[in-house]
Amino acid sequence: MTTPKVGFIYAHPDDETFGCACLIRELADQGGEPVLLCATRGDAGKTGRLGEMTREELAVLREQELRAAGDIMGLTVIQHLGYPDGKLKDVPREELVEHIVHFIHTHQLAVVVTFPEDGISGHLDHVAIHHATNEAIFSGRCPSVQKLYYNAPFTMRGTADGVTLQISVEPHWPMKAEALRAHQSQIFSIERVFGNLEQIPENELTRGEPFVLAWERGTHWPKKHEATIYDDLI
Ligand SMILES: [Zn+2]
Repeated sequence: MTTPKVGFIYAHPDDETFGCACLIRELADQGGEPVLLCATRGDAGKTGRLGEMTREELAVLREQELRAAGDIMGLTVIQHLGYPDGKLKDVPREELVEHIVHFIHTHQLAVVVTFPEDGISGHLDHVAIHHATNEAIFSGRCPSVQKLYYNAPFTMRGTADGVTLQISVEPHWPMKAEALRAHQSQIFSIERVFGNLEQIPENELTRGEPFVLAWERGTHWPKKHEATIYDDLI
């Protein structure tokens, strides 16, 4: 049996590294060939200590940063939709859903990971991706998908009770720190969330990567605890 495919669907280059670097690395180490769909170019973000640049320059840089981080984490495919940063809510929902359905179908994903309803930070691009991913999967047009997870480090559902799968950051921290550092233009927000990258985070919210199982073969919010993301796949 081939290893089931896990896909990550996010809004900006760096969303996947913040929340899922250790999970992605574990999947890659197990031969899982994880893939990423990134909806925007991240061109409205800050530029960290790199100085001023145009939106176009930042978009090109962030694509390179994501490629570098992806290599560190072990992503085998990074597909860009190339929408302008901050504008996902203006993209017709059906159009976004169509892209997601196509991505899922192309890679025959068994498991999908995306943002929770609040987008973790409340960013409207994150929220738009959450709803479009839900719609793609709940529409019945993605029959390969068996499970949908929300990556929920800072949310209500990310409290210990609701967490289905918890990936410990500690054994992977040097790798995660390196992947975060690859997003050099985003270094200020990275340092704000994770602190000094030389040290394993002490903050309860960033010491782990919690995932909540939102849907499993038609059942919403199945209450369970899992050892791996592959648990109960058929
Ligand atoms: Zn983001």
